[in-house]
Amino acid sequence: MNNKGRLLIIGAGPTGIGAAYRLKKLGYEDFLLVEAAPKAGGLARSFVDDKGFTWDIGGHVQFSHYDYFDAAMKEALGEEGWLYHERESWVWIADRFVPYPFQNNIRYLPREMAAKAIRGLINRPPFKADPNKDFGTWIDQMMGEGLKEIFMAPYNYKVWAYPVDMMGSGWLGERVATVDLSRVTENILMERDDLSWGPNNTFQFPRHGGTGAIWAALAEQIGDKHLRCNTHIVSLDWQNKVAITAEGEKLEYDHVLTTMPLDTLSKTLTPELPVVTEASHQLLRSHSHILGIGLTGEMPSKLAKKCWMYFPEDNCPFYRVTVFSHYSPNNVPEPETGKYWSLMTETSESTHKPVNREQLMEETIQGLLNTGLIHDRSQIVSQWSYVAEHGYPTPSLQRNALLSKIEPELKKAGVGSRGRFGAWKYEVSNQDHSFMQGVEWVNSTLFDVPELTVRFPDTANAMWGRK
Ligand SMILES: Cc1cc2nc3c(=O)[nH]c(=O)nc-3n(C[C@H](O)[C@H](O)[C@H](O)COP(=O)(O)OP(=O)(O)OC[C@H]3O[C@@H](n4cnc5c(N)ncnc54)[C@H](O)[C@@H]3O)c2cc1C
Repeated sequence: MNNKGRLLIIGAGPTGIGAAYRLKKLGYEDFLLVEAAPKAGGLARSFVDDKGFTWDIGGHVQFSHYDYFDAAMKEALGEEGWLYHERESWVWIADRFVPYPFQNNIRYLPREMAAKAIRGLINRPPFKADPNKDFGTWIDQMMGEGLKEIFMAPYNYKVWAYPVDMMGSGWLGERVATVDLSRVTENILMERDDLSWGPNNTFQFPRHGGTGAIWAALAEQIGDKHLRCNTHIVSLDWQNKVAITAEGEKLEYDHVLTTMPLDTLSKTLTPELPVVTEASHQLLRSHSHILGIGLTGEMPSKLAKKCWMYFPEDNCPFYRVTVFSHYSPNNVPEPETGKYWSLMTETSESTHKPVNREQLMEETIQGLLNTGLIHDRSQIVSQWSYVAEHGYPTPSLQRNALLSKIEPELKKAGVGSRGRFGAWKYEVSNQDHSFMQGVEWVNSTLFDVPELTVRFPDTANAMWGRK
């Protein structure tokens, strides 16, 4: 084994755990993983509320681009630890559900709306390949004005909390189903549903403990010798290779991987790297408000088989609702009685899209009534909420230019920064990507193997197609 000295990993979310897991597998002993929170898991943690409902920080749907990740998941929970689901996702619009991908199923829309969507598709401007174009122009060229106005612009504003013309389009790849006019027209004429698309048409979910159970199991495998929770790094003296904790303890290292958000990292760098400070504070992000509503009584029949639903209209604050009790029956108390079920909502916030945090629970419950997801307030037995201040790393128009200033400066300072907000690349920020960014950082640090996921997101994502 190459001895590269002491490795320090900051943050025990999926990225940090991925790095530590790889080191354990290699039998590399000289490393420490530190985490500010009392428990590992980061944004992929789960919580049990005081009524016994389990919640994730947003509906975590797991699918993977990597065999290495798949094997780690099996090892974490065992074959029996997983439940497998067919994706059933829908858009609630014009008082009806339209199957997702919305753009392939416009036959469900009222006639006027469907005609507008088709007109837009026929008249759309030619598609010009240009990675620098904004998301709004990409939508115009790919889907036409009709679909943009009916669904894509309002829905994406609700998700991202920024107008589509402030966002880039280079991140899109597999993330947004594109449109084939002849397929759409045939679907209408043949009255055919067109449901399967993209990497997540099936997904797996832990039988017990929510998504957090995965990361708790892997953290246990890493063990107390290498993992220290309640350890907040407040200063990173990169010249002397020392990280300093809130308690003033000095942790020396030879190589460091940080998974803190880039804007947070910039404030811990000692001495400051002015280019990193300036550029990282121009990166856009949104806050994610996750509200869990524990319910009793009859579930509306329209929810019977649904996993999650999208909400582009302004009759509710949330853009997505997950029927979380469908992910695992154990996500509710007394699962054997069938008495309880649960809904989890996600609402975005940014400087462009403020949220009244005090009123959000009330507005959410009203939104669930407006959209017919619950019949009556008396069904509610539990209310839970969580705010992720760093929720979504926005793929803004300026993002790539900003990252190209930040990355070389950090490299020169010997600071590896990876993960959802450590790399700030939405297109490689799911659990599998994050975990593999940690694994690949170790491979690169110990063996000089070039990293794939953070450097070539499109290639990493294309790997799904080959599995
Ligand atoms: C609303 C929402 C929905 C999502 N849905 C999905 C999904 O459906 N499927 C999917 O695969 N993924 C999903 N994700 C993404 C998934 O949660 C992330 O991939 C993953 O958590 C990112 O891991 P990370 O380790 O990079 O960052 P994080 O999970 O953010 O972990 C970073 C860790 O670093 C710690 N830290 C920060 N600063 C310091 C410091 N100074 N000192 C010590 N520790 C520090 C933090 O406490 C945290 O634990 C979703 C995320 C959100 C927010």
